[in-house]
Amino acid sequence: STPGGPKFREEKILVTVRVRPLSRREQAMYDLIAWDCTDDHTIIFQNPNLERPATSYTFDKVFNATCSTQKVYEEGAKDVTLSVLTGINATIFAYGQTSSGKTFTMSGIAENAIKDIYEHIKNTQERDFTLKFSALEIYNETVVDLLNRESGSLRLLDDPEKGIIVEKLIEEVVQDSQHLRHLIAICEAQRQVGETSLNDKSSRSHQIIRLTIESSLRENSGRVKSFIASLNLVDLAGSERASQTNADGTRFKEGSHINRSLLTLTTVIRKLSGGRRSGHIPYRDSKLTRILQHSLGGNARTAIICTMSPALSQVEQTKNTLSFATSAK
Ligand code: ADP
Ligand code: MG
Repeated sequence: STPGGPKFREEKILVTVRVRPLSRREQAMYDLIAWDCTDDHTIIFQNPNLERPATSYTFDKVFNATCSTQKVYEEGAKDVTLSVLTGINATIFAYGQTSSGKTFTMSGIAENAIKDIYEHIKNTQERDFTLKFSALEIYNETVVDLLNRESGSLRLLDDPEKGIIVEKLIEEVVQDSQHLRHLIAICEAQRQVGETSLNDKSSRSHQIIRLTIESSLRENSGRVKSFIASLNLVDLAGSERASQTNADGTRFKEGSHINRSLLTLTTVIRKLSGGRRSGHIPYRDSKLTRILQHSLGGNARTAIICTMSPALSQVEQTKNTLSFATSAK
C-alpha cells in the first residue's frame, strides 16, 4: 500500500473444503467414495477402479465427512464472523455443486454465529450494540426481499456515503437471539415456497443473509466512539452454473445455463486472491458482487467453504469446485 494512504489489511481469503458423507441416493446407486482426507489440509482423489497415482489438493483446512458443523464453524468461519464485532465487514460463502451440502453447512454456521455474537454482546457491557437483519435472494439477476417477496424486484442504488443500497429492502431490528433465529426460519421457508414453482430454483439462486451490527462506546470524556459493520452469510447457486461447458466438454449453446453472478464472483475472488490490487475488479458486472462489494476485499474479511460430494460419479463437478477453491487461496 502507498505510504500515508489508506491502510489495507492484507488478509487473504480463508478457503476450506468440506466433504459430506455419501448420500442415500449415491449409496443406492452403488456409487464409490473417490476422495480421502489424508490430513487437516490435504484431500486426495483416487479412482478406486483404476491404478493411477492419486491427485492431491491442499487448502487452509479440509473437513472430512465425520466433521461436525461446529468444527467447520470454529475453524472455517468463526474468526471471520467475530471480526464484525470489531467493525470489519465480513462475508462467508458456501460454494459447491447442487446437493453438495451448502445449505446444510450455512444454516449450521448461522446457528453457531448467533451464539457467538450474542455471547460477545453479553460480555461486552461497556458497549451498546444494535443488530439489524435483512435477507435477499438473487435469481436471474433479479433481487428479491426474502422478508417481503411482494415488493418484487428491488433496485440497487449507488449512495455516495453508504455505498450500494438495495432500495426498499426491509431491515428489521433484531430483539434477541430467539428473534434472529425466527427471522432466519422465515427466510428458509420463503426460499422453499419459491422452490415449488420452479424445480431447481435453489440451484440457480443466491441467498444473502445480512446482519448489520452497530456499536457505540461512551468514553469517560463523553465522546462516543461507534462503528457499523455487516456479516453476510451467502448460500450460492450451484457451482455447476459457473461452468461454461457441459459434462461432455462441449460448450453450452446459450448463456442461460450460466449464472452471471456466480461467474462474476469467481472472477472477483480470483483477482482479489491474486493480490493484484491495481487490476480492475469487475464488481459492477453482477448483482451479487455489487451487493457484496464493500464486504469483499479491501478492509473486509472473507471465508469460502467449498462443499463437495465424495462420490466417484460427481468427480468432474468436484474437480471444478476444487479448482475454484485453489484459485481463491
Ligand atoms: P445444497 O444446498 O448444496 O444443494 P444441501 O445442503 O441441501 O445441498 O445438502 C444435500 C443433502 O445432503 C441434504 O439432505 C443434507 O441434509 C445432506 N447433507 C449435506 N451435508 C451434509 C453433512 N456434512 N452431513 C450429513 N448430511 C449432509
Ligand atoms: Mg441448497
